[in-house]
Amino acid sequence: MKYSVVVPCYNEEAVLPVFLPRMVAAAESVSADYEIFLINDGSADLTWSVIKEACAANSRIKGICLSRNFGHQLAVTAGLSYCSGERTLIIDADLQDPPELIKPMSEKMDEGFDVVFGKRKAREGETFFKKFTAAVFYRILKSMTSFEIPVDAGDFRLINKRVLDVLQAMPERDRYLRGMVAWVGGKQVGLEYDRDERAMGETKYTFKKMLKLAIDGITAFSTSPLRIATSMSFFAAFLSLLAGGYVLYSFFFLDVVRGWSSMMAVVSILFAMMFFCMGIMGEYIGRIFEQVKSRPMFLVSEAENVSGPRAAIAPKAQPSSEARF
Ligand code: UDP
Ligand code: MG
Repeated sequence: MKYSVVVPCYNEEAVLPVFLPRMVAAAESVSADYEIFLINDGSADLTWSVIKEACAANSRIKGICLSRNFGHQLAVTAGLSYCSGERTLIIDADLQDPPELIKPMSEKMDEGFDVVFGKRKAREGETFFKKFTAAVFYRILKSMTSFEIPVDAGDFRLINKRVLDVLQAMPERDRYLRGMVAWVGGKQVGLEYDRDERAMGETKYTFKKMLKLAIDGITAFSTSPLRIATSMSFFAAFLSLLAGGYVLYSFFFLDVVRGWSSMMAVVSILFAMMFFCMGIMGEYIGRIFEQVKSRPMFLVSEAENVSGPRAAIAPKAQPSSEARF
């Protein structure tokens, strides 16, 4: 059985020479037929030279160089678009995800799973801030989505060909891969592991990149933020009722400047109406957004006694990052 491995690399010259022998040995332990894609995500150091050397020494190692830094998610997407193995492993280069786990993961997959994701038990060497923000974010996202995105799991996972095909056909630009894999459904299972400290170098995920990933995660899988205006409109309507009562009361019983009452009434009613209209717009924009993403509307996992090809629901689009110049 053929295995593909996707490794995004951004300024990883120091760690690649340690990572590669371990990855190759791990891949060989599951199959003689494997390919390892190293994606150079616009590194500023010698990463690409290291990759080219490795490719020269072992033809099963393949290098892909992106024209600039596109970010982790797009680097992985680029890698996935080249994969053809029956099983594909997504793994970081920094040895925080142990390559040797490919074996237990694939044994788990033998039991009939479509996806085996690495579930982080311990997170060594990560700051309290990172662990805290990650924990909060994963839980917020979970409360906003209608399907299960595994908590405390990164992109370290083994997926089968069916899931790979779906991922390759999802044309959305702002990618949150771990959510997209979860969205596919099928049989998914977590495999607990201790996340080690980064072997060498430092984290390439700056706070800004983390924030972008978090926002992509929420906006790609939930329209509930758009609904905030709708809920606010109900709140504003309620307030305007209260304010209206007070305005009437003060008009008859208190000594207020003439014109104040009517002005207050108009302002509060208008605000309520405005929020309401914004809410309605949000609902529609949300739906347009869902449509524009043009994901396949459903996925058939199995069918019996069905002949002839199924009509294509979504065109098999090329991942946007595959464009070359
Ligand atoms: N990475 C990438 N492009 C980026 C940032 C990171 O390809 O813009 C790669 C990086 O080389 C590593 C993986 O993504 O293989 C995870 O990054 P990192 O270990 O820095 O993130 P952390 O584990 O700290 O969340
Ligand atoms: Mg890391």
